[in-house]
Amino acid sequence: MQHIVIIGNGIAGITLARHVRKLSEHRISVISSETEYFFSRTALMYVYMGHMKFEHTQPYENWFWKKNRIDLVKARVVEVRTAEKKLVMAHGNEMAYDKLIIATGSKPNKFGWPGQDLEGVQGLYSKQDLDLLEKNAPNKETCHRAVIVGGGLIGIEMAEMLRSRDIPVTFLVRETSFWNGVLPKGESQMLNEHIREHHIDLRLDTNLVEIIADGQGRAKAVVTDKGDTIPCHVVGLTAGVSPNIAFLKGSGIELGKGVLVNRSLETSAKDVYAIGDCAEQREAIGQRRPVEAVWYTGRMMGEALAQTLCGNPTQYRPGHWFNSAKFMDVEYQTYGWVFSERHKGEHEAHFHWRHPKEKLCVTMAYHRETEQFLGINTFGIRMRHNIFDRWLTQEKSIDFVMEHLRDANFDPEFYKTHEPAILAQYNQERGRAIALKKRSWKRIFSTT
Ligand SMILES: Cc1cc2nc3c(=O)[nH]c(=O)nc-3n(C[C@H](O)[C@H](O)[C@H](O)COP(=O)(O)OP(=O)(O)OC[C@H]3O[C@@H](n4cnc5c(N)ncnc54)[C@H](O)[C@@H]3O)c2cc1C
Repeated sequence: MQHIVIIGNGIAGITLARHVRKLSEHRISVISSETEYFFSRTALMYVYMGHMKFEHTQPYENWFWKKNRIDLVKARVVEVRTAEKKLVMAHGNEMAYDKLIIATGSKPNKFGWPGQDLEGVQGLYSKQDLDLLEKNAPNKETCHRAVIVGGGLIGIEMAEMLRSRDIPVTFLVRETSFWNGVLPKGESQMLNEHIREHHIDLRLDTNLVEIIADGQGRAKAVVTDKGDTIPCHVVGLTAGVSPNIAFLKGSGIELGKGVLVNRSLETSAKDVYAIGDCAEQREAIGQRRPVEAVWYTGRMMGEALAQTLCGNPTQYRPGHWFNSAKFMDVEYQTYGWVFSERHKGEHEAHFHWRHPKEKLCVTMAYHRETEQFLGINTFGIRMRHNIFDRWLTQEKSIDFVMEHLRDANFDPEFYKTHEPAILAQYNQERGRAIALKKRSWKRIFSTT
């Protein structure tokens, strides 16, 4: 029996612990400085918005951990001594390990802005950040305005949270259009409109210069590079996240942006592994980024590493890229690769359809010469993951995808579907005469 020590009780660390327990009798300790019990970080926003209580974000009952002999330790690790196979916690206690797993997640980026450490300035990552937001912005009477800096998925969540309490929000976005480093132009423009329709004061192409204090150590306004001073009570810093690994400097473990790992999730130190947001792949996996701050990849890494630690060596293989998110009430899904104009290669062509009135759109990417389907983004239309995963593996053509679009739609029955309108535009733009095939359950659930 070995002692498996996991630093971090997020989705990566907890998935690993659960699977090691299923597969073995190893002793398991999970150390975290954030909360005693695992919770779903992606659901934090719904607590502030009153849709659920914090307890509802905890998928396991509190007795689960003891029953499954997973020891939970609430402490902050400040040092890892790989030569002695030991770690040191902030209160001075030490713990020895046979295998050490670093699953310490991310931390919000701060770029050295003057005033970034003032009271009232905060990120949105941890349970502590949620508590702080409750204190900083309980209602519109206390918080007359919030300024959010950084236009990504967390920024838009924070804006939605604050608007749910009717708090006026100004949203500073460095890019000329929302998230246009990731999304193609048509989608990004639709989101600009959507954000503004939700009464958010979206300021594109605008950078934060300084946060001004009120004389008592609290933020009272921000200054932008457009020369505007915006009075506010709260400043949300949501300009991306980076691996939370500062405590590993001096440990001898090789670090890049994150903790460098190979496909087996091994670090440069013997018996030390890294998983989840804090891990950085040494070798590219397809077109995936070396560090992916995404929920499901943390879970997949935890599952793969549990196999390895329990005697079944398993490499991390995340498969085709996919993701989903919500931009207020508009659902977003992506399968395969649809790059923004800024990042797409010469070979990548796009077909874009947008509903004339509603906030619905689809962009499909395909290879200009081979016509191979490369990926799809949908807004407001739900698609089937298994179908796109299969079509990407089978390298189907864009025409095939169009013809079988009904198979891919996941929207409930009697929901208005948009395939005829999408196909009509496609046929017209590309001089095709493709007819939509009827939805086939046999094809949908086929495994080949
Ligand atoms: C508001 C928000 C919304 C999100 N929404 C989505 C979404 O819709 N879809 C999606 O795919 N992803 C989403 N993400 C990202 C997703 O939540 C993360 O990718 C995922 O939670 C990372 O899991 P992890 O286990 O790697 O790390 P974490 O969940 O960050 O867990 C790491 C834990 O380790 C602890 N820790 C760190 N250092 C130490 C130390 N030295 N000692 C002790 N403990 C330590 C941390 O406090 C933390 O509790 C969202 C993130 C946020 C913040």
